[in-house]
Amino acid sequence: MSQDAAASQVGAGQFAGRVAVITGGARGQGRSHALELARQGADIALVDRCADLDTVTYPLATSDDLAETVRLVEAEGRRCVAVEADVRDLDAMVAFVDGVVAELGSVDILIANAGISTLGSIVDMDATQWSETVDVNLTGVFNAMRAAAAHMRRNRWGRIIAISSMMGRSANPLIPAYCASKWGVIGLTKSVAHEMAYFGVTANVIAPGNISTDMIHNDMLYGLMRPDLESPTKEDVAGPMTSLHVQPVPWLEPEEVTAAVVFLCSEGARHITGSVIDVDAGASARFTA
Ligand code: NAP
Repeated sequence: MSQDAAASQVGAGQFAGRVAVITGGARGQGRSHALELARQGADIALVDRCADLDTVTYPLATSDDLAETVRLVEAEGRRCVAVEADVRDLDAMVAFVDGVVAELGSVDILIANAGISTLGSIVDMDATQWSETVDVNLTGVFNAMRAAAAHMRRNRWGRIIAISSMMGRSANPLIPAYCASKWGVIGLTKSVAHEMAYFGVTANVIAPGNISTDMIHNDMLYGLMRPDLESPTKEDVAGPMTSLHVQPVPWLEPEEVTAAVVFLCSEGARHITGSVIDVDAGASARFTA
């Protein structure tokens, strides 16, 4: 929608008349972003693959998860489109975003959030383990941007937010593909920010710390954190998780990332582009200037 049209809806929620596309919106952080943007007036379009992957050793989202996000958005009185598709498939992403424009009228906000977390040693990682992680976490972000950017450029307004990680600006052992993909998201987004700066479109990155979702609360990650224990529990991993942060908290809630999403989508952030916002309980104090 045009900037004038948006301005005329002040009072109806700061995102009234806007349409937000969220990848990986079935659960976790994506669901939190969808609900808050809807509460603040946006219509929502969700894409999620809703199937497990061989190289991911924790359960991914389901069709029921996606349907539940739709139900929650609609309960806020907003329209919601949801499609089961894979962010690795460029043609599917272009068809999805074009369909959103046809049905909801525009694409104003893109939250490129879908991602997977994988483990593997550089000594014996196979090609599929590497490529599935990079394809979802980096190529998937490219595909979403590629599908949305032309619409935003035409409208002379847009907010692109890519979700990286504190591991996108630092490193830990045994997650080389995850680190590489999340570092790549930052370079990709900064280049897009440059290109789109002339068209009223901002592109920024959020780099979360440990966020309390299924991505961290699972046996794979618990085992990585406490290799000394056979079946580590949530309590067992709280200490090592806290040590990744600077503030003494093991994990943050998805809503804390959503607060940064809302800010970056707001008019107040119109001159913030090409930036990385760390929502990581101070972890970045150790590694960024
Ligand atoms: P989550 O609950 O696992 O959510 C990720 C979502 O992405 C799932 O719904 C997943 O479901 C979807 N997805 C994965 N592969 C997909 C694909 N190929 N196509 C479409 N959708 C796909 O985890 P989360 O914590 O909310 O993660 C959100 C983002 O934050 C991710 O990019 C993650 O890397 C990043 N992050 C998380 C943490 C953390 O501690 N949780 C920290 C830093 C960064 P399906 O695969 O079933 O579609």
